[in-house]
Amino acid sequence: MKILIQDINFSYGSHDVLQGVNMEISPGQVVCIAGPNGSGKSTLLKCLARVLIPKSGVVYLDGREISRLGSRELARLAGYVPQNGGEIFPFTVLEIVLMGRKPHLTWGVTRHDLEVVANVLKFMGIGEMAQRSLAELSGGQKQKVFIARALAQEPQVFLLDEPTSSLDIKHQLEVLEVVKALARRQSYVVIMVLHDLNLAARFSDHIVMLKDGRIYAAGKPRAVVTRENIGAVYGVEALIMESSFGPYVIPVGPVQGSDICLQAAAF
Ligand code: ADP
Repeated sequence: MKILIQDINFSYGSHDVLQGVNMEISPGQVVCIAGPNGSGKSTLLKCLARVLIPKSGVVYLDGREISRLGSRELARLAGYVPQNGGEIFPFTVLEIVLMGRKPHLTWGVTRHDLEVVANVLKFMGIGEMAQRSLAELSGGQKQKVFIARALAQEPQVFLLDEPTSSLDIKHQLEVLEVVKALARRQSYVVIMVLHDLNLAARFSDHIVMLKDGRIYAAGKPRAVVTRENIGAVYGVEALIMESSFGPYVIPVGPVQGSDICLQAAAF
C-alpha cells in the first residue's frame, strides 16, 4: 500500500489547523507524526482516516482517492484507532475485537472470522481477557483491545493516535514491536501520532514534525530529531545522545527567550 497526501488544508470553522501538508509513504514504512500539543497531529490523522474532510487536498491509497471509496472498502484498507480508543461500550473484549471483522462480513460471522480474532487476541497477549467486560479493564488493557480490533480488521494501513499513551514501558515496547513487525512482514503502512520523541526515533522509519499545522521537518529520525528542530518546534533546549536505537533526547529546559521563559518571568 502506497500513500500519497497532497496539499491537505483543514480548518475548524475559521481556525486554520493544517496548511499545505504533503507526504508520500511507501509500503512497509512506519511513519510517526510528532509535534507539540495543538500542532494538528490528531487532526491530520483524522483527515487520513476520513473522520474529517479536508477543506482542500487529496489523500490517495494506492492511487485511489479516499473521498471516492465506499465506507466498507475504506475500512478494509485503513484501520483507525483514535486516542483512548473512542467510545467505551458495554461489551466484552471478544465482542469488541470481533467488531473489527465487520468490513469483511457478508451473512454473518464465519469460522475464518473467529480464527482471525483468536489469533489477534493471542498475538496481543489478551486471550485470557476475552470474556471480560471492557469497562472493567485498565487504560493500558483497553488500549491493547482497540489495537486488536484494528488488527482484526486486517487493513493495509494502520492509523494510530497515541497508541502507547496508557501503557507501561514494557507494554509500550511490546505494542510498538508488534506494529513495526506488521509493517515489515506484511508491507503494511503504519502512521501513528507519538508524543515520546525517543519512542518515535526508535520505532519509525520516517518522522514528520508539525509546527502550527505545517510540516516543519520530515525525514529519517536522525535528520528530524535534532537540537535545532526541538528548540524551534517545542521551545525546549535538548541534549541529543546517540544510542544504538537512534537519537535519544534529554530535555534540558526552555529555550532562552521562548514563550515558556517569558511566561515564567511574568508569573
Ligand atoms: P494535536 O493532536 O497536535 O494536539 P489537534 O489536531 O488535536 O492537535 O488540534 C489542533 C488544533 O485544532 C488545536 O488548536 C485544537 O484546539 C483545535 N481543535 C481540535 N479539535 C477541534 C474541534 N473539534 N473543534 C475545534 N477546534 C479543534
